[in-house]
Amino acid sequence: MERVYNFSPGPSMLPLEALETAAKELVCYGSSGTSVMEMSHRSKAYIEIFEAAVALIKELMNVPDNYKILLMQGGATAQFAATAMNLMGGSGRADYVDSGSFAYGALVEAKKYGRINVVASSREDNYTYIPKLDATTFDKGADYFHITTNNTIFGTRYTTLPDTGAVPLAADMSSNILSEVYDVSKFGVIYAGAQKNIGPAGVTVVIVRDDLLDRELPITPKFLSWKQQSANDSMLNTPATYSAYLAKLCLEWLKKLGGVPAIEQQNIAKAALLYDFLDDSKLFDGTARSEFRSRMNVTFVTGSAELDDEFIKGAAKAGLINLKGHRSVGGMRASIYNAMPVEGVKALVAYMKKFEEAH
Ligand code: PMP
Repeated sequence: MERVYNFSPGPSMLPLEALETAAKELVCYGSSGTSVMEMSHRSKAYIEIFEAAVALIKELMNVPDNYKILLMQGGATAQFAATAMNLMGGSGRADYVDSGSFAYGALVEAKKYGRINVVASSREDNYTYIPKLDATTFDKGADYFHITTNNTIFGTRYTTLPDTGAVPLAADMSSNILSEVYDVSKFGVIYAGAQKNIGPAGVTVVIVRDDLLDRELPITPKFLSWKQQSANDSMLNTPATYSAYLAKLCLEWLKKLGGVPAIEQQNIAKAALLYDFLDDSKLFDGTARSEFRSRMNVTFVTGSAELDDEFIKGAAKAGLINLKGHRSVGGMRASIYNAMPVEGVKALVAYMKKFEEAH
């Protein structure tokens, strides 16, 4: 069977080149005589792979030297708790922006460990936009200020970052890390599950400024302790060895095509193809407010649940899969992460045109 265009919100498409390299190396990696999956995580061959993955993240994101890059497990969900546990050792208070389901999930989790101030929310409007922030409502004594840079379910993104002054900015970047250029020095911590723009599920990237490594709550499990993970080069226990290897292959692919500035231009162009079509369409409507539109997750509806269903089923037959929107938004969502080729987006727009003409 031929490969299809997979618009899944994650796990999602991986670069074909990375998959083909992995296939070639699956049974026997280099001169090791074993698969990467069978290697000890303490072996020289494996540590080289792991360190190369970390070095690529540093290079691609231009991570300053005073930041640690950790490869952890447990997904962004584990980091919802970890962020609170690792940073709440000061005032025990944190500011959160409630801009989507995962942003909300992060603050609900953090409430278990400290006092949370929700500075703004777009929940009442089903998260169709990033809420307006008023700096006078920020807690100057907060241990951190948490945002979700891209809201995967609702298809919105921050176009400007809040200025939180001396309060460290903590960001869940799961669904747009490596898709656009960010100045890492603006953040205290960035975390992201790998399964959208980094590699397969299993690895969670945490980038943390090193002066924030001494603020953990005494109850922090060692597994979630950034300080302990950092002191052990993310090898406190057995890491997700094969996922980290595949992430390395995906990062090499990204580097080869020009890194984040180059993919950002491609992502802008890919998203524009879809949004331009939506803006002209008489059948389809985008669900996110245009000034906050995500470049990674494009959400749209026809206005009729039956038509949406017909659209999704027909698309799958045409080799365009996983377009069903999240149940809280309905309709469709096209997730077009880094590895989605422009041809995939063009094929989707062509199918949407055809569908509109037929209806
Ligand atoms: N945050 C965001 C923005 C996400 O998109 C997701 C997953 N789709 C999560 C958090 C949860 O991530 P995980 O499943 O890796 O725990």
